Amino acid sequence: MKRGRMVAGVVACLWVAGCAGPSRNTVYQTSTIDALLAGVYDGDLTLRQLRARGDFGIGTYDNLDGEMVLLDGEFHQVKADGKVYSPDLDGETPFAAVCAFRPEKIFAVPSGADMRAVEELIDREAPNQNLFHAIRIEGQFKTMRTRSVPAQKRPFPPLKEVAATQPVFDMENVSGTVLGFRCPPFAAGVNVPGYHLHFISRDRARGGHVLAFELVTGTAQVDVLDRFVMQLPATEDFAAVDLSRDRQPDLQGVEKDKPKR
Ligand SMILES: [Zn+2]
Repeated sequence: MKRGRMVAGVVACLWVAGCAGPSRNTVYQTSTIDALLAGVYDGDLTLRQLRARGDFGIGTYDNLDGEMVLLDGEFHQVKADGKVYSPDLDGETPFAAVCAFRPEKIFAVPSGADMRAVEELIDREAPNQNLFHAIRIEGQFKTMRTRSVPAQKRPFPPLKEVAATQPVFDMENVSGTVLGFRCPPFAAGVNVPGYHLHFISRDRARGGHVLAFELVTGTAQVDVLDRFVMQLPATEDFAAVDLSRDRQPDLQGVEKDKPKR
Protein backbone atom coordinates (compact mmCIF):
# COMPACT_ATOMS: atom_id res chain seq x y z
CA MET A 1 0.00 0.00 0.00
CA LYS A 2 2.67 2.42 1.14
CA ARG A 3 4.95 1.33 -1.68
CA GLY A 4 2.17 1.75 -4.21
CA ARG A 5 1.58 5.28 -3.05
CA MET A 6 5.30 6.02 -3.38
CA VAL A 7 5.38 4.73 -6.97
CA ALA A 8 2.32 6.83 -7.78
CA GLY A 9 4.11 9.84 -6.28
CA VAL A 10 7.20 9.27 -8.44
CA VAL A 11 5.07 8.88 -11.57
CA ALA A 12 3.22 12.13 -10.72
CA CYS A 13 6.58 13.94 -10.25
CA LEU A 14 7.84 12.70 -13.61
CA TRP A 15 4.59 13.76 -15.25
CA VAL A 16 4.82 17.24 -13.70
CA ALA A 17 8.50 17.51 -14.69
CA GLY A 18 7.57 16.57 -18.23
CA CYS A 19 5.02 19.37 -18.33
CA ALA A 20 7.39 21.94 -16.80
CA GLY A 21 9.10 22.59 -20.15
CA PRO A 22 8.39 25.62 -22.29
CA SER A 23 4.76 26.14 -23.30
CA ARG A 24 3.83 26.44 -26.96
CA ASN A 25 2.94 29.82 -28.46
CA THR A 26 4.06 31.65 -25.33
CA VAL A 27 6.34 34.64 -24.92
CA TYR A 28 8.18 34.44 -21.63
CA GLN A 29 9.75 37.70 -20.57
CA THR A 30 11.75 38.99 -17.64
CA SER A 31 11.55 42.65 -16.51
CA THR A 32 10.28 45.50 -18.69
CA ILE A 33 11.89 47.54 -21.47
CA ASP A 34 11.15 50.73 -19.51
CA ALA A 35 13.12 49.41 -16.52
CA LEU A 36 16.04 48.71 -18.88
CA LEU A 37 15.74 52.21 -20.40
CA ALA A 38 15.86 53.60 -16.86
CA GLY A 39 19.12 51.77 -16.10
CA VAL A 40 17.99 48.61 -14.29
CA TYR A 41 20.85 46.46 -15.65
CA ASP A 42 21.09 43.96 -12.80
CA GLY A 43 18.72 41.01 -13.12
CA ASP A 44 17.86 38.06 -10.91
CA LEU A 45 16.96 35.41 -13.50
CA THR A 46 19.72 33.01 -14.60
CA LEU A 47 20.23 31.98 -18.21
CA ARG A 48 19.56 28.41 -17.12
CA GLN A 49 16.13 29.45 -15.76
CA LEU A 50 15.45 31.47 -18.90
CA ARG A 51 16.33 28.56 -21.17
CA ALA A 52 13.81 26.36 -19.34
CA ARG A 53 11.18 28.68 -20.88
CA GLY A 54 12.37 28.66 -24.46
CA ASP A 55 15.07 27.83 -26.99
CA PHE A 56 14.85 31.11 -28.91
CA GLY A 57 14.99 34.75 -27.94
CA ILE A 58 16.76 38.06 -27.45
CA GLY A 59 17.70 40.38 -24.61
CA THR A 60 20.79 41.54 -22.79
CA TYR A 61 23.11 40.33 -20.02
CA ASP A 62 23.83 41.55 -16.50
CA ASN A 63 25.38 45.05 -16.35
CA LEU A 64 24.22 45.50 -19.97
CA ASP A 65 27.20 43.41 -21.10
CA GLY A 66 26.28 42.88 -24.76
CA GLU A 67 23.38 41.70 -26.88
CA MET A 68 21.70 38.35 -26.22
CA VAL A 69 21.01 35.80 -28.93
CA LEU A 70 19.35 32.53 -27.86
CA LEU A 71 19.12 30.30 -30.92
CA ASP A 72 18.34 26.57 -30.99
CA GLY A 73 18.83 26.50 -27.22
CA GLU A 74 22.30 28.06 -27.31
CA PHE A 75 23.16 31.46 -25.85
CA HIS A 76 25.51 33.83 -27.66
CA GLN A 77 26.79 37.07 -26.14
CA VAL A 78 27.72 39.76 -28.65
CA LYS A 79 29.90 42.13 -26.66
CA ALA A 80 30.89 45.70 -27.44
CA ASP A 81 34.27 44.51 -28.76
CA GLY A 82 32.31 42.95 -31.65
CA LYS A 83 33.20 39.39 -30.62
CA VAL A 84 30.75 36.64 -29.71
CA TYR A 85 31.11 34.76 -26.43
CA SER A 86 29.39 31.75 -24.83
CA PRO A 87 28.00 33.04 -21.53
CA ASP A 88 27.92 31.08 -18.26
CA LEU A 89 24.44 29.62 -17.73
CA ASP A 90 24.61 30.69 -14.07
CA GLY A 91 24.96 34.31 -15.20
CA GLU A 92 21.84 36.46 -15.07
CA THR A 93 19.82 38.67 -17.39
CA PRO A 94 18.11 41.99 -16.58
CA PHE A 95 15.85 41.86 -19.67
CA ALA A 96 15.01 39.09 -22.13
CA ALA A 97 12.11 37.56 -24.03
CA VAL A 98 12.10 33.94 -25.20
CA CYS A 99 9.78 31.31 -26.64
CA ALA A 100 9.82 27.69 -27.78
CA PHE A 101 10.15 28.48 -31.48
CA ARG A 102 7.89 26.32 -33.66
CA PRO A 103 7.04 28.31 -36.81
CA GLU A 104 3.58 28.21 -38.35
CA LYS A 105 4.53 30.20 -41.44
CA ILE A 106 7.58 29.82 -43.68
CA PHE A 107 8.13 31.92 -46.80
CA ALA A 108 10.92 33.08 -49.09
CA VAL A 109 12.13 36.67 -48.92
CA PRO A 110 12.76 38.30 -52.33
CA SER A 111 16.34 39.00 -53.30
CA GLY A 112 17.50 42.54 -52.57
CA ALA A 113 14.96 43.15 -49.78
CA ASP A 114 16.11 45.53 -47.07
CA MET A 115 14.98 45.54 -43.45
CA ARG A 116 11.89 47.66 -44.13
CA ALA A 117 10.85 45.49 -47.09
CA VAL A 118 11.26 42.33 -44.99
CA GLU A 119 9.17 43.84 -42.18
CA GLU A 120 6.45 44.83 -44.67
CA LEU A 121 6.49 41.31 -46.14
CA ILE A 122 6.11 39.76 -42.68
CA ASP A 123 3.28 42.23 -41.92
CA ARG A 124 1.47 40.93 -45.03
CA GLU A 125 2.10 37.24 -44.29
CA ALA A 126 1.33 37.58 -40.56
CA PRO A 127 -1.17 40.46 -40.41
CA ASN A 128 -2.46 40.11 -36.84
CA GLN A 129 -0.81 43.11 -35.13
CA ASN A 130 -2.45 42.30 -31.80
CA LEU A 131 -0.56 39.07 -31.16
CA PHE A 132 3.14 38.60 -30.45
CA HIS A 133 5.22 37.05 -33.24
CA ALA A 134 8.62 35.39 -33.08
CA ILE A 135 10.61 35.86 -36.29
CA ARG A 136 13.57 33.96 -37.67
CA ILE A 137 15.22 34.81 -40.99
CA GLU A 138 17.94 32.56 -42.36
CA GLY A 139 19.78 34.35 -45.10
CA GLN A 140 22.72 35.55 -47.04
CA PHE A 141 23.13 39.27 -46.40
CA LYS A 142 24.79 41.72 -48.76
CA THR A 143 25.10 44.16 -45.87
CA MET A 144 24.35 43.88 -42.16
CA ARG A 145 24.65 46.74 -39.66
CA THR A 146 24.42 45.92 -35.96
CA ARG A 147 25.34 47.47 -32.66
CA SER A 148 26.17 46.22 -29.21
CA VAL A 149 26.30 47.87 -25.80
CA PRO A 150 29.26 48.03 -23.42
CA ALA A 151 29.08 46.67 -19.86
CA GLN A 152 28.18 49.37 -17.32
CA LYS A 153 29.29 50.12 -13.77
CA ARG A 154 27.20 51.55 -10.95
CA PRO A 155 25.70 54.08 -10.76
CA PHE A 156 24.10 52.84 -14.00
CA PRO A 157 23.40 55.57 -16.59
CA PRO A 158 20.10 55.46 -18.54
CA LEU A 159 20.21 53.38 -21.74
CA LYS A 160 19.88 56.54 -23.86
CA GLU A 161 23.31 57.71 -22.63
CA VAL A 162 24.89 54.30 -23.25
CA ALA A 163 23.38 54.08 -26.75
CA ALA A 164 24.91 57.44 -27.68
CA THR A 165 28.37 55.82 -27.53
CA GLN A 166 27.45 52.31 -28.73
CA PRO A 167 29.83 50.65 -31.21
CA VAL A 168 28.29 49.93 -34.62
CA PHE A 169 29.42 47.00 -36.77
CA ASP A 170 29.15 46.93 -40.56
CA MET A 171 29.37 43.53 -42.23
CA GLU A 172 29.33 42.60 -45.91
CA ASN A 173 28.47 39.31 -47.59
CA VAL A 174 27.68 37.52 -44.37
CA SER A 175 25.30 34.61 -43.87
CA GLY A 176 23.45 33.99 -40.67
CA THR A 177 20.24 34.34 -38.72
CA VAL A 178 18.13 37.38 -37.86
CA LEU A 179 15.85 36.63 -34.92
CA GLY A 180 13.53 38.45 -32.61
CA PHE A 181 9.96 39.53 -32.01
CA ARG A 182 7.21 41.74 -33.37
CA CYS A 183 5.25 42.99 -30.38
CA PRO A 184 1.77 44.55 -30.41
CA PRO A 185 1.38 48.31 -29.86
CA PHE A 186 -0.16 47.73 -26.42
CA ALA A 187 3.14 46.15 -25.28
CA ALA A 188 4.65 49.67 -25.09
CA GLY A 189 6.42 50.14 -21.78
CA VAL A 190 6.72 46.39 -21.32
CA ASN A 191 8.56 45.40 -24.51
CA VAL A 192 9.43 47.05 -27.85
CA PRO A 193 6.28 47.66 -29.97
CA GLY A 194 6.93 46.54 -33.54
CA TYR A 195 10.10 44.76 -34.63
CA HIS A 196 13.11 44.11 -32.39
CA LEU A 197 15.70 41.93 -34.12
CA HIS A 198 19.18 40.59 -33.34
CA PHE A 199 21.70 38.88 -35.64
CA ILE A 200 24.20 36.04 -35.33
CA SER A 201 26.45 35.00 -38.21
CA ARG A 202 26.49 31.39 -39.35
CA ASP A 203 30.09 31.00 -38.14
CA ARG A 204 28.96 32.48 -34.76
CA ALA A 205 31.74 35.06 -34.97
CA ARG A 206 29.69 38.26 -35.36
CA GLY A 207 26.29 39.65 -34.49
CA GLY A 208 24.41 42.25 -32.47
CA HIS A 209 21.22 44.32 -32.32
CA VAL A 210 20.10 44.82 -35.94
CA LEU A 211 19.98 48.41 -37.27
CA ALA A 212 19.82 47.71 -41.03
CA PHE A 213 20.44 45.01 -43.61
CA GLU A 214 20.08 44.06 -47.24
CA LEU A 215 19.35 40.45 -48.14
CA VAL A 216 20.71 38.48 -51.07
CA THR A 217 18.45 35.48 -50.42
CA GLY A 218 16.54 34.42 -47.37
CA THR A 219 13.74 32.46 -45.78
CA ALA A 220 11.51 33.86 -43.05
CA GLN A 221 9.84 31.73 -40.38
CA VAL A 222 7.13 33.13 -38.13
CA ASP A 223 5.71 31.72 -34.90
CA VAL A 224 2.44 33.34 -33.81
CA LEU A 225 2.33 33.68 -30.01
CA ASP A 226 -0.99 34.22 -28.22
CA ARG A 227 0.22 33.86 -24.65
CA PHE A 228 2.39 36.28 -22.68
CA VAL A 229 4.08 35.40 -19.38
CA MET A 230 6.04 37.96 -17.39
CA GLN A 231 8.50 37.40 -14.57
CA LEU A 232 9.47 40.60 -12.75
CA PRO A 233 12.78 41.03 -10.88
CA ALA A 234 12.55 40.89 -7.09
CA THR A 235 15.53 43.24 -6.81
CA GLU A 236 16.07 46.52 -4.96
CA ASP A 237 16.85 48.29 -8.25
CA PHE A 238 13.54 47.22 -9.78
CA ALA A 239 11.69 48.17 -6.59
CA ALA A 240 13.20 51.66 -6.62
CA VAL A 241 12.93 52.61 -10.31
CA ASP A 242 10.21 55.12 -11.31
CA LEU A 243 8.17 53.47 -14.08
CA SER A 244 5.35 56.02 -14.08
CA ARG A 245 6.43 58.09 -17.08
CA ASP A 246 6.14 57.35 -20.80
CA ARG A 247 9.58 56.34 -22.11
CA GLN A 248 8.57 55.80 -25.77
CA PRO A 249 10.63 58.83 -26.96
CA ASP A 250 13.73 57.32 -25.27
CA LEU A 251 12.99 53.95 -26.85
CA GLN A 252 12.84 55.42 -30.36
CA GLY A 253 16.38 56.72 -30.02
CA VAL A 254 17.76 53.59 -28.39
CA GLU A 255 16.29 50.65 -30.29
CA LYS A 256 14.95 51.87 -33.59
CA ASP A 257 16.78 54.76 -35.20
CA LYS A 258 20.04 54.44 -37.03
CA PRO A 259 22.66 56.11 -34.87
CA LYS A 260 24.45 59.19 -36.16
CA ARG A 261 27.74 58.15 -37.68
ZN1 LIG B 1 18.24 44.58 -29.04
